[in-house]
Amino acid sequence: MGTAGARFVVSKQLRSSAGTWCFFQGKHILIDPGPGTLKSCFLDFPVLNPEDLDAVILTHRHLDHSTDVNVIIEAMTQGTFNKRGYLFAPSDALEGFEPVVFQHVRQAVENLQLLKEKGSYSIDNLYFETPFRHNHSAETYGLKFILDQTCISFVVDTLFSDDLIKHYSGTDLLVMNVMLVEPLSCKEIKHLDLESATKLIDGIQPRMAVMTHFGLSMLEHEPELLARELSDKTGVKVVAAADGLTIELKKDLFS
Ligand SMILES: [Zn+2]
Ligand SMILES: [Zn+2]
Repeated sequence: MGTAGARFVVSKQLRSSAGTWCFFQGKHILIDPGPGTLKSCFLDFPVLNPEDLDAVILTHRHLDHSTDVNVIIEAMTQGTFNKRGYLFAPSDALEGFEPVVFQHVRQAVENLQLLKEKGSYSIDNLYFETPFRHNHSAETYGLKFILDQTCISFVVDTLFSDDLIKHYSGTDLLVMNVMLVEPLSCKEIKHLDLESATKLIDGIQPRMAVMTHFGLSMLEHEPELLARELSDKTGVKVVAAADGLTIELKKDLFS
C-alpha cells in the first residue's frame, strides 16, 4: 500500500507509509503496518478489510514499520473481542524497553511467534522463512515465502552484504527496500542503495524485482527512471513501486 522509506518521506507523507498486504494461498497477511496503514486499507478499492487478516508480520520495530500495529491487530480481532490470527515479530519489538505491541492487544492474538535467525514458520498451509538477521539498527529479519511453485522474498531494511545473495537465492519475486541512490558516509544509516540493489539482482537473478521504501534521494531521481536503468543493466524486469501498486503473481510474474 505504501512506499515511504526514510523518516522525512514518512513525516512529510511524500509517499504513503502504509504496509504491504499479501494474499498468498488463501491467506491474508499484512507486513509492516507503518503510519496510516489502517486508513489505507479503507481507501483501497475494493476495501482491504483488516478483519480478513490471518497474520501480521513486523520485520522490525522501527516506527515506519510498526506504528499502526496495535490498531491493525485490534481491527483483525474485532476490537480484541475475537481472539484470532497470528503475530510474528522480533523479540526487541515485544520485550525490553518500549515494546511496540501493547500487552492487551497481544492477548487478543491467538498465535504469537518470535522471529529468529534461520526461522521457519507456517500460517496453516503457508510457509515462510527468516533466513538471517539483517545488518540494521534494530533486530530485523527479511521474509522468504515459499509458495507451491514460487518463492517471494522481502529484503527489508539492511546494509548490503554478499550474505543477502546467498540467503535469498532461488527467489522468483524479489522485493527490496532501496532507500538510497548513493551509500551514505554515516555508518548508522544501514540501508540498501542502488548499487547494492544491482548486486542483489545480479546475484539472485529473480524473474522480477520491485524497489520500494524510498528515501528523499530516490524520489528526487524518479524511481521509475532508476528502475528502467536497472532493468537495462541487469536484464531482469525491475519495477519501482508506487503507492497502491498491486502485483498479480500469475499475470506479472509468469506472463
Ligand atoms: Zn524502514
Ligand atoms: Zn528500519
